Amino acid sequence: MRVSVPTIITAHGAPKQSISPAAAVDRIADFLAPGKVTLLTGAGVSVASGIRAYRGKDGRYMNPNYQPILYHELTDESTKGFAFRQRYWYEIKSCSQSIRLMLYRLRSYLGYPPVRDALPNTSHYAIAALQFASYIPRLVTQNVDGLHHKAIGHLWEPDHIQQQILELHGTLHRVHCKRGHVVPRDMFQDWLSASNPQWKAFVDNLEKTGQKPRTNPDGDVELEGVSYADFVVPECPQCTLEGQQNSFHKPEVIFFGESIPSRIKDRSFYDVEKSERLFVLGTTLATYSAFRLVKRALELRKPVMLLNVGPTRADGLPGVEKLEISSSLVLRDVVRALLGSRASHDSVIVHLLQSGIHQPPAEDHEIISRNT
Ligand SMILES: [Zn+2]
Repeated sequence: MRVSVPTIITAHGAPKQSISPAAAVDRIADFLAPGKVTLLTGAGVSVASGIRAYRGKDGRYMNPNYQPILYHELTDESTKGFAFRQRYWYEIKSCSQSIRLMLYRLRSYLGYPPVRDALPNTSHYAIAALQFASYIPRLVTQNVDGLHHKAIGHLWEPDHIQQQILELHGTLHRVHCKRGHVVPRDMFQDWLSASNPQWKAFVDNLEKTGQKPRTNPDGDVELEGVSYADFVVPECPQCTLEGQQNSFHKPEVIFFGESIPSRIKDRSFYDVEKSERLFVLGTTLATYSAFRLVKRALELRKPVMLLNVGPTRADGLPGVEKLEISSSLVLRDVVRALLGSRASHDSVIVHLLQSGIHQPPAEDHEIISRNT
């Protein structure tokens, strides 16, 4: 089976135009002012939370040798497939959130805690303010880190968040077995720890001593002298209760080569169709599942605005207004411009505008400042 990993094909090679932050704030505020906007986000939005994007400012993969794990490999029933899953759950090197998407790393056993513990950045909170103030009633994210949920989690009930935010490529925070039993990722991590006490001790020691495994610029972590051949992938307890043996588990994310469930696909189109305009943030649109939403909006003659530093697949498409600027430079001011005095009087909005970290991965400063 051959699965091709997408590359960015820019439409008409539109020239890159930079814009001042003040001019960008005006443009974006004008665009969002009528409301009824659907927002589509990508990895660029999470970089300031310390989660790496796959692509640098020129749109190329930051690790040219990167080889993602493919869905058909992960689900292979043979011994080879078993070894693959063993490696997947154990090895930090692991894979990506989705092969169509390739925006950032899916971390496995050792790598999940940093994603679990990541905090929303200033863009996530500015977006939450726009959601709370009803400018952005629908949010479709390609990110699997749950940071949009975290940013608005103290304001909305989980059911309401579920209605307002669509995770196009799934989430890292849940795992399911081959037969569909769902388990929270933290619980699955505990199962892995219980089955692999030697690795639990290794992680505990790292935490105790404040050490971090050396991270390569591409996000992989080097562990010297370790073998994953003895890493135990636990059986699904629910399957065991039902008399089945099943050690196949997969995080609830879409892998390269895997189809997006039709209900998610339909919902993403619905979110675009129900809105009057589409605002796109921090994505190259390299994956078709995201790009087709832009195409759909254009077919319906809905205005599209795109903020990204670096090339995207929609560059130069008629009907797309592209701004080459980082969201972290402008989004809070966009909220202030839209909300006027409410931005300084509404305590919820004030708090959201004061919240958020700005901690891009150390080695990526140059890329982050131009690519969030
Ligand atoms: Zn099961």
